[in-house]
Amino acid sequence: MRVLLTGAAGFIGSHLAERLLARGHEVVGLDAFDPFYDPALKERNVARMLGRPGFTLARGDILDSALVAQLARPSAPVDVCCHLAALAGVRPSVADPLRYHRVNVDGTLVLLEACRAAGVPRFVFASSSSVYGVRSHAPFREDDACDRPASPYGATKRAGEHFVHAYHHVYGLDATCLRFFTVYGPRQRPEMAIAKFARLIEAGAPVPLFGDLTSARDYTWIDDIVEGAARAVERPAGGFAVYNLGDARTTTLAELVRLLERALGKRAVVEPRAPQIGDVPLTCADIAAARRDLGYEPRVAIEEGIERYVRWVREAAA
Ligand code: NAD
Repeated sequence: MRVLLTGAAGFIGSHLAERLLARGHEVVGLDAFDPFYDPALKERNVARMLGRPGFTLARGDILDSALVAQLARPSAPVDVCCHLAALAGVRPSVADPLRYHRVNVDGTLVLLEACRAAGVPRFVFASSSSVYGVRSHAPFREDDACDRPASPYGATKRAGEHFVHAYHHVYGLDATCLRFFTVYGPRQRPEMAIAKFARLIEAGAPVPLFGDLTSARDYTWIDDIVEGAARAVERPAGGFAVYNLGDARTTTLAELVRLLERALGKRAVVEPRAPQIGDVPLTCADIAAARRDLGYEPRVAIEEGIERYVRWVREAAA
């Protein structure tokens, strides 16, 4: 299969590109090397793939409709567009909602339009657990109401799902939306909690903990997410499908810090802070649908994943 993969230089995108190449697919990557975090890290992410047979990389913006149209062009047919490029992260979306909207919503529409015009038959969209908003009961199911996003980021991801559905309905696009639940592992975005906490604990610096230590997240190991996403890329939805991809277990903030302390062999200097706008108290995936249709099965529990992540951080620093 020939896959147009946006966000190919990012954390999840670079892992997914490698997995797709290893499974014999062709990958046309597109990434703007956005400065949301150090683009040098993204260069490192793609360096291992550049020059590998089956991989090409376009450096450019998903908002550049001429470029996107050229990449989706019918003379080199794309079988599926897997759209991961986005501005990720909840808190910065509160500070710059218009930019989030442009990249995450307009950008998704540019891709959908290019796919429609070029006759790309399938679309896989990276959505997020953020679409569920503030919820106190678990687990979250795909058919739960998602009409109260708690951040501009969550709203852009939900809007993206809506547009993907509209293109399915109007043009018959075969479409899958994947709701990722907090992903961690090697190459994790540096501003995400696990990467940031590990850095601060290692350095003996204060670790700001926002809100209640009982707030809980469903943390998903990168290889598990990538396996689920690769399966969704390979398997037509047969219409329109939405899947949670998570670990289906929750870990409190207090427990997360304890696991990091154990793996790093150091105590955290904790600094309690007020909750941040946009944060939600709980995420927890019901993964029955992904299990049933994709054969998705998370394999790395948080205890093991944190150990592996810390090993990777130390090897990368050595
Ligand atoms: P990431 O920031 O590492 O990857 C996103 C990539 O998109 C980056 O390489 C960036 O340069 C690229 N990009 C940004 N704007 C672009 C533009 N205008 N044109 C082209 N490329 C652009 O983030 P990630 O954690 O790998 O997330 C990948 C996807 O998964 C995103 O859609 C994100 O919203 C979603 N997601 C991630 C998580 C998570 O825990 N990491 C959870 C839920 C959803």
